[in-house]
Amino acid sequence: MPAPQCASCHKARAALRRPCSGQALCGTCFCAAFEAEVLHTVVAGRLLPGAVVAVGASGGKDSTVLAHVLRELAPRLGISLQLVAVDEGIGGYRDAALAAVRRQAARWELPLTVVAYEDLFGGWTMDAVARSTAGSGRSRSCCTFCGVLRRRALEEGARLVGATHVVTGHNADDMAETVLMNFLRGDAGRLARGGGLGSPGEGGALPRCRPLQLASQKEVVLYAHFRRLDYFSEECVYAPEAFRGHARHLLKLLEAARPSAVLDLVHSAERLALAPAARPPPPGACSRCGALASRALCQACALLDGLDRGRPRLAIGKGRRGRDEGGTPREPGRVRTPVPEAVPTF
Ligand SMILES: [Zn+2]
Ligand SMILES: [Zn+2]
Repeated sequence: MPAPQCASCHKARAALRRPCSGQALCGTCFCAAFEAEVLHTVVAGRLLPGAVVAVGASGGKDSTVLAHVLRELAPRLGISLQLVAVDEGIGGYRDAALAAVRRQAARWELPLTVVAYEDLFGGWTMDAVARSTAGSGRSRSCCTFCGVLRRRALEEGARLVGATHVVTGHNADDMAETVLMNFLRGDAGRLARGGGLGSPGEGGALPRCRPLQLASQKEVVLYAHFRRLDYFSEECVYAPEAFRGHARHLLKLLEAARPSAVLDLVHSAERLALAPAARPPPPGACSRCGALASRALCQACALLDGLDRGRPRLAIGKGRRGRDEGGTPREPGRVRTPVPEAVPTF
């Protein structure tokens, strides 16, 4: 049976059915619809004219699609873009991913800045963190450390390039997994903070926005395919966070029964409001680095503090102790002003 006609232009043959709506579209009309939907999310997330936007670039499919779409939309939005990549110090993995980011920056003529954990966090690379926490049966700790540190590194990189906003490539599937995990852990504070289209930038942090948060992973992959985008698709060498894997599996089962389950979960989180008694106390400032913190130290400083004492503790969830197995940093872990590797590409 030949493919049906595109439901939008009524000229070309359809190349796909949109996973959520079932609408049959040609590649051109799909890409236009995808971009229009991201534009809508971005406007709702208050990326206003004049914004200098730091795009968290990892070389992976999500951030590649994000950078490409924002570059298409930038003239209409009146924003300028800066790619900021984080070098976590993961031997054999990050080098290839950073090479993909460099190719993108060169092709799209976007300025690229790379910030490294090693420079920012007192000599700690992700490989050193992994060595230090190995063998303690804490499979999720690597991803937990990395998530906290990457968020901080991206913020530092964004400040370095004079950005007014930070955008990240989280798609609807990532968001829905996070919502499920927070529900399953009973983490009401995170549920409440994680909703919405980003954070307005409390306590001096830069405002954040997730332009792809209503785009499903399948559509992100389709967009990359039709736009012929070159991205790096290998998984990180460290085991993915175990609990997220379960949430992902559960979500796939839900989606098979109800195709809108992913977006339904994302929208549910947006509309959640916490009862006054469940609201976390207003955050203060980290006593070490001044970043937003709900305790004396912010999450990044607390993790680095634990590493430096050879007793990695997780600031997220229940604190657990690990063994001291090397990974000696050059100096006490401290969030420092980075030494940038600015790569102007034109
Ligand atoms: Zn069409
Ligand atoms: Zn701090």
